[in-house]
Amino acid sequence: MQPIATIKRTKEIQERYQIFTKKSYGQNFIIEPKVVEKIAQAAIEDPSELVFEIGPGIGALTQFLCQRADRVIALEIDARLPEILKQEIDGNLEIILQDVLSTDIDELIASKRKDHQKVVFASNLPYYITTPILFKLFEAKEPIERITVMMQKEVGARFLATNCESEYNALSVITQYRCDVKKIMDVSRHVFWPKPNVDSMVVQFTFHHKYRVENEDFFFEMVKACFQQRRKTIYNNLGQWLKDKKKAEEVLSKASIPLNTRAQQLSLDDFILLYEVLA
Ligand code: SAM
Repeated sequence: MQPIATIKRTKEIQERYQIFTKKSYGQNFIIEPKVVEKIAQAAIEDPSELVFEIGPGIGALTQFLCQRADRVIALEIDARLPEILKQEIDGNLEIILQDVLSTDIDELIASKRKDHQKVVFASNLPYYITTPILFKLFEAKEPIERITVMMQKEVGARFLATNCESEYNALSVITQYRCDVKKIMDVSRHVFWPKPNVDSMVVQFTFHHKYRVENEDFFFEMVKACFQQRRKTIYNNLGQWLKDKKKAEEVLSKASIPLNTRAQQLSLDDFILLYEVLA
């Protein structure tokens, strides 16, 4: 297999099909085969897994996903690309020309999954919509096994952060409530064409069922409220959200959380305890 993920091949394809990269779609193609190979290896554990790729571009990662899995379904927004992918990639690939943000993920999975097939997602994400895409996947009702994605390094650090680290925020708590989060590798900006202004990181999210709160929407709102103003104490943020300082004081003391604590000091277990007292 001749990798697409090289600068020579990428430029050749662009010239042959007369396409330029669109900044508005976050198009930065990978030009280092070792990087895409490693993403595909981490993303797929068994060839029988049903693989969804978001934003295949000209197929740099797609090619390696197709090599490792029996079936790959790619969602791409750019109408110029499906034809190129059909020409350049052999075999087991289905391309859906669609905006991932307006896709009903549950319907998509349910219509493509066979029996109890495991579902995984892989992507070199369009960075301008990293968080909305991931939250769409986190909120899906259809079971997903794991998500392996490239994102801006600083955003990856937020997903990975635990309490007392500077990047720790509501996003970290809500994500870790649903998934085990693991860094696969750092990726330099020099392996993309065109070169972006930021470095990247590949992060893997594996869904777990360790935690279960009755009213998840309420729990997520509470976590966001606690982080509302980072410099303020949890007592102030919670009091403002509840519109009742007395109640905030009561709840915090029942959960044995000192009033001068800041949200970034609390672990996921602390937030669950706080929710339970409040609910
Ligand atoms: N996978 C390719 C690679 O690694 O070289 C391309 C990755 S590029 C960073 C992001 C890709 O996502 C582009 O192909 C872009 O057109 C596509 N994209 C951007 N917004 C999208 C959306 N809302 N829905 C689906 N695909 C999108």
